[in-house]
Amino acid sequence: MTNKILFKGFTLIDGSGEAPIENAYLLVEDKKIVKVGNGEFGLSTEGMEVVDLRGKFMMPGLINSHVHITMDPDPDPVGSMIHDSEAKITLRGVANLKKHLYSGTTFFRDLGGPKGIDLDLRDAVNSGLIEGAQFLASGKVVTMTGGHGWFFGREADGVDETRKAAREELKAGADVIKIMATGGVMTKGVQPGSPQLSMEEMRSAVEEAQKAGKKTASHAQGTVGIKNAILAGIDSIEHGIFLDDETIQLMIDKGTYLVPTLVAPYFISSNGVAAGIPKFIVDKSDYVMKFHNDSFTKAYKAGVKIAMGTDSGTPFNIHGGAPHELKLMVKCGMTPTEAIVASTKGSADLLDILADYGTLEEGKFADLLVLNENPLENLDTLFDIGSIYKLGRKVK
Ligand SMILES: [Zn+2]
Repeated sequence: MTNKILFKGFTLIDGSGEAPIENAYLLVEDKKIVKVGNGEFGLSTEGMEVVDLRGKFMMPGLINSHVHITMDPDPDPVGSMIHDSEAKITLRGVANLKKHLYSGTTFFRDLGGPKGIDLDLRDAVNSGLIEGAQFLASGKVVTMTGGHGWFFGREADGVDETRKAAREELKAGADVIKIMATGGVMTKGVQPGSPQLSMEEMRSAVEEAQKAGKKTASHAQGTVGIKNAILAGIDSIEHGIFLDDETIQLMIDKGTYLVPTLVAPYFISSNGVAAGIPKFIVDKSDYVMKFHNDSFTKAYKAGVKIAMGTDSGTPFNIHGGAPHELKLMVKCGMTPTEAIVASTKGSADLLDILADYGTLEEGKFADLLVLNENPLENLDTLFDIGSIYKLGRKVK
């Protein structure tokens, strides 16, 4: 028998950014939303489970555009990962998948892990073998020899090698190609500000992804590398620490998304060396944090498209901690409505899943959160979600 649930009497925040709808109803049939409205439902409710949500709020499940599902947010996640067996890395991923789902992130995108394990985990969720948030996966990141993330990615130098790297990741089943435009905080000996793969090297990888109908994402922190990635045709700048007026304008012109991941340096710097984080990581994080926040504020105000991502798996950056990122985005200037749109519709648009996810509309999958308080007035209510539905099924 098909599962039919009628939710009624709640305030609907549908993820589109439009004003909330009071006394709303929403009918779920099997995995999908089949009817949304407000006032009296007006039709027979025979054969339906009716859930009265008077005084409650409903919004779409959160969509996190930047996660490392196989990394644990230990003080030194990279140091431990290098020595872990494939079985251990896999089991960690299985556990982390549930953490996202049970804290309201119903969909995410993994942007890098070792040995293609993320691709197998994705398939295991989709086939129902394991429970967890659904996700898209990049497989191994593409980086220059010795470049950022070399320890879990694949090294490629020159336009032919980056082209081949992209082709091989697509062949392995990657949904998105992740490519490193600059150094980063977590890799020893590389600097966040310095460019790495060239524009030409990135462009050949981007071309291959586009031919396969897939998106591309670039870890890009320094200004020159960000510009190279945008000109290579990348779909999203991840982190975007050192943005200037020119790169912001280029992003607007080309429709490039920014996934700021403000929580990544925040948790590194607020925990520090005393918590066991290697000093080279803390020093770089302390240095970039102010530039990072300022760049985000400037880009957002100028009208750059923003999608929410956390970089979960970096030190103390827990899986399922997305509400922390929403709070930081608001602290840096966004309204709560804008932070929610970036975390639902915005991410869904970037991930190219907006036809099925990201807003609560008829015909889309029923990934939804029931909240005890109005998140537009108090984002902390996202840390204590009343109930969570994934594909029409109650998981919490
Ligand atoms: Zn990352």
